Amino acid sequence: MASYNLFLLPGDGIGPEVMAEVEKILAWFKAKGIASFNTDRGLVGGCAYDAHGAAISEADMEKAMAADAVLFGAVGGPKWDKVPYDVRPEAGLLRLRKDLGLFANLRPAICYPALADASSLKKDVVEGLDILIVRELTGGVYFGEPKTITDLGNGQKRGIDTQVYDTFEIERISRVAFELAKTRKGKVSSAEKRNVMKTGVLWNEIVTRVHKEEYSSIQLEHVLADNCAMQLVRWPKQYDVIVTDNLFGDVLSDVAAMLTGSLGMLPSASLGAPDAKTKRRKALYEPVHGSAPDIAGTGAANPIAMIASFGMALRYSFGLGEWADKLDQAISAVLAKGLRTKDIAGDKPANATTSQMGEAILQEIQALA
Ligand code: NAD
Repeated sequence: MASYNLFLLPGDGIGPEVMAEVEKILAWFKAKGIASFNTDRGLVGGCAYDAHGAAISEADMEKAMAADAVLFGAVGGPKWDKVPYDVRPEAGLLRLRKDLGLFANLRPAICYPALADASSLKKDVVEGLDILIVRELTGGVYFGEPKTITDLGNGQKRGIDTQVYDTFEIERISRVAFELAKTRKGKVSSAEKRNVMKTGVLWNEIVTRVHKEEYSSIQLEHVLADNCAMQLVRWPKQYDVIVTDNLFGDVLSDVAAMLTGSLGMLPSASLGAPDAKTKRRKALYEPVHGSAPDIAGTGAANPIAMIASFGMALRYSFGLGEWADKLDQAISAVLAKGLRTKDIAGDKPANATTSQMGEAILQEIQALA
């Protein structure tokens, strides 16, 4: 039986509650002999600050660096709103992303048939939707220098952010997108603003070259990022994989997310470069949602985003795509049976708690085994 080291960082608020549902599935995988996950647990966010005075301890960083994958819950909450900036809960996540070199953020937007009515868009626009946004996560305007606010001395100030991309950054993110497209419908849409931005011109040039030299069997189209936003709400099913920079990816992935309904449904993966020897990428999997302090401790949290994040780990870190598909089928089946946590219940009352939803999904996977 294959064995993997999985480092769990449940975090704060609903993080540990939704992580507990993944741990039930992990235990079953092991008992069934599908794969053995050696799990270790650490602290991140507010709970790490309480224990160590840092958003993540050095010892836990070392474990994260050594693991085959990190599974992250959520961090933050009002208790830590006033802690010093460099040890605020989010600093733990940013440190992990930086030290693990996680430059590729993957956000699938999948509309489960049973939830198609819950979208703010018409049912036929979103039903069966399955797209993947690949966002560059470590470069671009969020990190480029200079990044300043200058007092001009005449009652005016000037704010500057710098959008900067080097060839290697565009090459590696486009390779991730093309590789993923190979395992999906074989189409990549590259979104930039080459009409008004030099980084857009370079982005377009590099993606075109990588495609021509290495991935000519994949269909590539270029789309202006603003048009991409429009197309996402007009007819999102025209897309398969969208690859884009940090800023546009931030916006476009949130647009795509809302096509499918609740925050409680959205998983994500962040991947680094492949290791020279093992070829395995550093990886962190996390739900898109935060720690939801408003519902923490009430059993109302939807565990699907966390469980689907584990599904992404099965697919992208452990080569267990078949089981990732089964997990998706199990989620779909549970939703089709009408099970709803509060966030996806619409105007009806919820009929499942966090653990009831988690257990129902586990039962469905067991039935598919
Ligand atoms: P949030 O995502 O925690 O919650 C937004 C709303 O969505 C809330 O009403 C919440 O109850 C609901 N929600 C979120 N996840 C849900 C789930 N799984 N099931 C059911 N409902 C769910 O965002 P927020 O309220 O803006 O932030 C709360 C805290 O989380 C803050 O401290 C913020 O800094 C932090 N945060 C952390 C992350 C992260 O860890 N990656 C991301 C975003 C926000």
